Amino acid sequence: MTSLPLVFDAPRRALPPRHLADVDPAERRDVARELGLPGFRLDQLARHYFGRFTADVEQMTDLPAAARETLGALLPALVTPVLEQQCDGGATRKTLWKGHDGTRAESVLMGYPDRATVCVSSQAGCGMACPFCATGQGGLERNLSTGEIVEQVRQAAAAARDGALGAPARLSNVVFMGMGEPLANYKRVVAAVRRITAPAPDGLGISARGVTVSTVGLVPAIDKLTAEGLPVTLAVSLHTPDDELRDTLVPVNNRWKVDEVLDAARRYAMATGRRVSIEYALIRDVNDHPWRADLLGRKLAQRIGKHRVHVNLIPLNPTPGSEWDASPRPVQDEFVRRVQAAGVACTVRDTRGREIAAACGQLAASQT
Ligand code: SAH
Repeated sequence: MTSLPLVFDAPRRALPPRHLADVDPAERRDVARELGLPGFRLDQLARHYFGRFTADVEQMTDLPAAARETLGALLPALVTPVLEQQCDGGATRKTLWKGHDGTRAESVLMGYPDRATVCVSSQAGCGMACPFCATGQGGLERNLSTGEIVEQVRQAAAAARDGALGAPARLSNVVFMGMGEPLANYKRVVAAVRRITAPAPDGLGISARGVTVSTVGLVPAIDKLTAEGLPVTLAVSLHTPDDELRDTLVPVNNRWKVDEVLDAARRYAMATGRRVSIEYALIRDVNDHPWRADLLGRKLAQRIGKHRVHVNLIPLNPTPGSEWDASPRPVQDEFVRRVQAAGVACTVRDTRGREIAAACGQLAASQT
């Protein structure tokens, strides 16, 4: 396996202090010993944190006061909300939060009749530089730690349970579609997925089927993910089926071409049995041509297989300073029809959170 070129490495900024969510369950006994506590104390702590979404040791009254104080060191405030905005009648809530070093990132919680989804960030900023995405314009600030990723999910789960979306709800879905390229922060993202999906007390107990990891198409990292045996949904941000345009829309295409990315997606689908999601932000007069819809349908059917793939069209969410806009409705409808005519499932994503710049590709914490 080739390693990722240097350009994908985050600047060497200090990651936050160690958090319980950073600790692999197999290492808990050692960490307890290091803190001078009996091994089972960390299991107790984990039951509160993962099982009840509690991060305040003072509420853990079954723990002796001295142990509470010591254990508090494993629950540093990694993700502190600084601004909450809501729209869609309270069903979409964006949180701007800051990290221990002042780094800012955003998460979005969305309620639906049958589920609640949180969209989390995996990096502060992003190094992939896709020209239509607000996050991509500022470059990469740093990777988020496993603890910072899990904390976004834990806080969302607690908020949903406590009625933030109207009625108490169980957080059922986690999508890595916030700021950052998750597969460029591979180790921490995979550890976070394990913490999110393991049943309590090792994790938050969210079904892996409800977790989606979205990537620009870092082929070696997709193959590595395939080998992890985690049945999460893989989403690939394709945005066009031809290399010429994709080289500009998704600059990493200069390194891994459309066909290579689709072949990696097929390997993922075959190994996991999970349908791969192809993300396609439809941009007026840029990538919305009928011939591109035909080529997309044909390529996906040939290279991945009709029943192993699903196209998710995202009407472009305009970002500040960009001339680009979403396609007119009839053009969008024709695009869907043509992809479906190739036998490939194709649906249009709802555009939650547009008014509060919380929709796909609009997250840019530094501008808030
Ligand atoms: N880096 C990952 C995940 C982050 S973005 C990735 O690229 O997949 C999640 C999705 O939103 C991606 O498909 C991305 O291409 C899309 N997106 C980015 N900017 C957008 C915009 N302005 N309008 C619509 N979708 C956008």
